[in-house]
Amino acid sequence: MARPENVMQVFSLLDKSNCRKCGEKTCLAFAGAVYQGRRPVTDCPTIDHDRARPFIETAVAGPPEDDQDAFLKDLVDRITRCDLRQAAARTGGRFDGEKLTVKVLGKDFSVDSSGKLYSDIHMIPWVVVPFLEYVLNAKGQPVSGDWVSFRELAGGKARYPLFQKRCEEGMQRIADVYTDLFDDLTHLFQARQVESLFDADISVILPVLPLVPLMICYWKADEGIGSSLNIFFDRSVDANLGNASAFTLGAGLTQMFEKLAIRHGCVIDHT
Ligand code: SF4
Repeated sequence: MARPENVMQVFSLLDKSNCRKCGEKTCLAFAGAVYQGRRPVTDCPTIDHDRARPFIETAVAGPPEDDQDAFLKDLVDRITRCDLRQAAARTGGRFDGEKLTVKVLGKDFSVDSSGKLYSDIHMIPWVVVPFLEYVLNAKGQPVSGDWVSFRELAGGKARYPLFQKRCEEGMQRIADVYTDLFDDLTHLFQARQVESLFDADISVILPVLPLVPLMICYWKADEGIGSSLNIFFDRSVDANLGNASAFTLGAGLTQMFEKLAIRHGCVIDHT
């Protein structure tokens, strides 16, 4: 597996049509996201797989730590140039003259104009990065009530196998063996029970961010049909967050569920 040496090396592989099918506004923005390790190069549907082969697994492995730090620093720099009062209107947050505060999984998460973060909960990267991207990029599109799978998000299809493996299968492993605990864990994150949606045995909506709800549906095994678990996003997530941060949130939540389940004495089978 090779890492691109610079953004232009990725850009040279793209057809430069700026068609937006990957969910980015331009091919150059997409090349930057690949270089930073936030997007797999395969999220561009017109990419020539033979030419791109050396970089195909780059985002699967995730960016090296130096790049993660640089990426976070870039987000913080952009926050210092962001109008937080205006961002409050776009994000469903509130601005008190100094800090913008947004509810993340029901808890206050704030940032000031110098990019300093404040919260009662831990500053974990899988929350910090989506929070900052949400503040910077949310377009304020209202929640539609139309639920879509990750693969239906712009650019989500190519990345869906990884989302399924890292998020949906991880949560399902817990729900299969420790169903009641799984239900309890979702409520730890402020989940709201939804009445028999899609006939699922468990249907809950987690208020991840004010305009980014996430729905988990779990069906128990029944009469020879295996169990299944699906995660859905509101269709507005493309406009308010984007698939890279939606992926980060799903993977982070799954990891958190696994950690809490293990702390409760559960044995998680990863085979
Ligand atoms: S899908 Fe590919 S060609 Fe279209 S904007 Fe994205 S990177 Fe460019």
